Amino acid sequence: MKEIVTVLGTIKKEDLGFCQCHEHIMLSKGKSFEVNPVLCLDDLEKSLKEVKHYHHAGGNTILEAQPGGCNRMTEELVYISRKSGVHIIASTGFHKLIFYPDNHWIFSEPQEKLESFFVSELTKGMYTDADNGLPVHQCSARAGFIKTALDVEGLSPMYIKLFSAAVGAALKANRFIMVHIEQNADPVLLLEFLKEKGMKPGNLMFCHLARACKDIKILKKILSAGVYLEFDTIGRFKYHSDEHEIQIIKELMSEGYENQLMFSLDTTRARFKTYDENAVGLDYILTTFVPNMKKSGITVEQIIKISNKNCIKLLAE
Ligand SMILES: [Zn+2]
Repeated sequence: MKEIVTVLGTIKKEDLGFCQCHEHIMLSKGKSFEVNPVLCLDDLEKSLKEVKHYHHAGGNTILEAQPGGCNRMTEELVYISRKSGVHIIASTGFHKLIFYPDNHWIFSEPQEKLESFFVSELTKGMYTDADNGLPVHQCSARAGFIKTALDVEGLSPMYIKLFSAAVGAALKANRFIMVHIEQNADPVLLLEFLKEKGMKPGNLMFCHLARACKDIKILKKILSAGVYLEFDTIGRFKYHSDEHEIQIIKELMSEGYENQLMFSLDTTRARFKTYDENAVGLDYILTTFVPNMKKSGITVEQIIKISNKNCIKLLAE
């Protein structure tokens, strides 16, 4: 059994409620902003308002996928959770290396040091000063899971170091690993590597596969190994329509994978109504996508699995 650790402390699995499993609520202006200007969510009151909308629409929990050392805004997440009543589960780990300045410690620190940084964030408290120099100041709020990222370059020596540290920390602290899968990266090869390192597939969540892999056979291969898949190409019409996303989910459910799926929006500045009036908003799944799932024949029981029961299995069992 794992404990569910939010930024305000542990919660019981009965309290998880409706959960979106991969969002970005706060994100300070850093290297990711230079790469893409929508990767900045640094207005505390706007982000709070957006999370309140989510709560009002029926949302209870959010997994925050910005890891420590990569412009995570730790104390702001604590504030937003307290003010909104939404459980926020924060992450340690690492993001795509393109999101770090060249002189960042993530490149120079050895695997053991990275592993103890992750373990410390999961068991003692998150660091609040890790974006530039080596982390020193730790707050009492703990991270709840390990975020990682696989870029197109695949398992280069630097990514092998990072993934090895992440697995070490996951096994020591008994937490699951979330993986950002970049478009055209190879999730099958990564899964083999993680299994060899001792990671159980049931302790892994792979994200973005509906847009990262065009071939649904790859999704089925990953699912057949027991990995959880998180769908977030929702309201992202430059990739595909919501109808197409629902079609993929339905096909996977019809083949027996309904106990391994979850959903989210993978929000950016361009997806929060409080930052951009044309955005879909953090409440979009609740107000629009879930009703469309129901219209397409997906049952209420299946939606409860995707939005709650599967999340509980991954977080708490
Ligand atoms: Zn993300």
